[in-house]
Amino acid sequence: MIYERVALIGLGLIASSMAHAMRRGQLAREIVGYARTAETRDVARGIGLCNRVVDSAREAADGADLVVLAVPVGAMGALAEEIAPVLRPGATLTDVGSVKRAVIGAVGPHVPDGVHFIPGHPLAGTEYSGPRSGFATLFDNRWCILVPDGADRQAVERLAQLWRGMGANVDEMDPDHHDLVLAVVSHTPHLIAYTMVGVADHLEQVSNSEVIKYSASGFRDFTRIAASDPTMWRDVFLTNRDATLDILGRFTEELFVLQRAIRMGDGQHLHDYFSKTRAIRRGIVEAGQDTAAPNFGRVPAPGA
Ligand code: NAP
Repeated sequence: MIYERVALIGLGLIASSMAHAMRRGQLAREIVGYARTAETRDVARGIGLCNRVVDSAREAADGADLVVLAVPVGAMGALAEEIAPVLRPGATLTDVGSVKRAVIGAVGPHVPDGVHFIPGHPLAGTEYSGPRSGFATLFDNRWCILVPDGADRQAVERLAQLWRGMGANVDEMDPDHHDLVLAVVSHTPHLIAYTMVGVADHLEQVSNSEVIKYSASGFRDFTRIAASDPTMWRDVFLTNRDATLDILGRFTEELFVLQRAIRMGDGQHLHDYFSKTRAIRRGIVEAGQDTAAPNFGRVPAPGA
């Protein structure tokens, strides 16, 4: 056992997968859960997700030696403020949010002295949400990035052990670098997928039924990514604004260059460009990051 009592605040895809993975690895003696709505709490109770599901965040965090904020990024500050009075010295407070600088800004000021605040982010996910969507293998062979920002090394190592026990590889990063990396590998690609699905929807000459019928040509992968939770993604773009705008600007510039190459019939440029991108894809396959762990037949989406 790595922790005696883990409190999961939020019981969606990531928290429920953590609950399953912690059980698989026998990593926590007790898992206590809380979610905002009675409906989600009832589902979690019904499927036996945690040892206990309680009716307030404060009650969940009380007496826990690890508290995990697993809610949309925009909700974390208020929850941290609510649970702060019951966080005990020596306990660790972490999160799984897709953006790190904004979480540090929102949560940091509420962390009491003696509590180890170690933000984190597992790079794993699917387009499903809620307490039923989790599964034990979600984090297997995925990366979890911890952003210790000067936190106690023993506490960091203990949290890293938990993530390794749940199947993940652990890296550490500075929060701004994390946000930039994620803008490249996840946030901007999601925005592009949302846009492409929107374009198809708005195109009058091609009917929606044709889009659906012929979607296997590439569009289907965009629709899967664009099906991800709207609240979570709204918060990602509101809180990782600068890095996303930076990458989006670069994306638009490169798109214009490709657009020009198509217009000018510059096949050499297109071929060279596509050859370079193909090499990147091969690198991903070689690194074993092209497929997720088995997840009951669902097609894995990139983590946020
Ligand atoms: P999810 O499946 O949509 O679940 C969100 C959970 O947060 C639900 O239990 C929800 O409770 C609760 N919640 C929402 N707003 C709340 C509020 N204002 N106060 C208290 N609880 C609230 O979300 P998820 O995919 O697990 O994502 C959770 C976090 O992980 C997010 O910060 C996200 O950025 C990050 N993340 C997601 C992925 C991914 O691919 N999904 C990957 C890595 C990291 P109710 O159901 O009762 O509303």
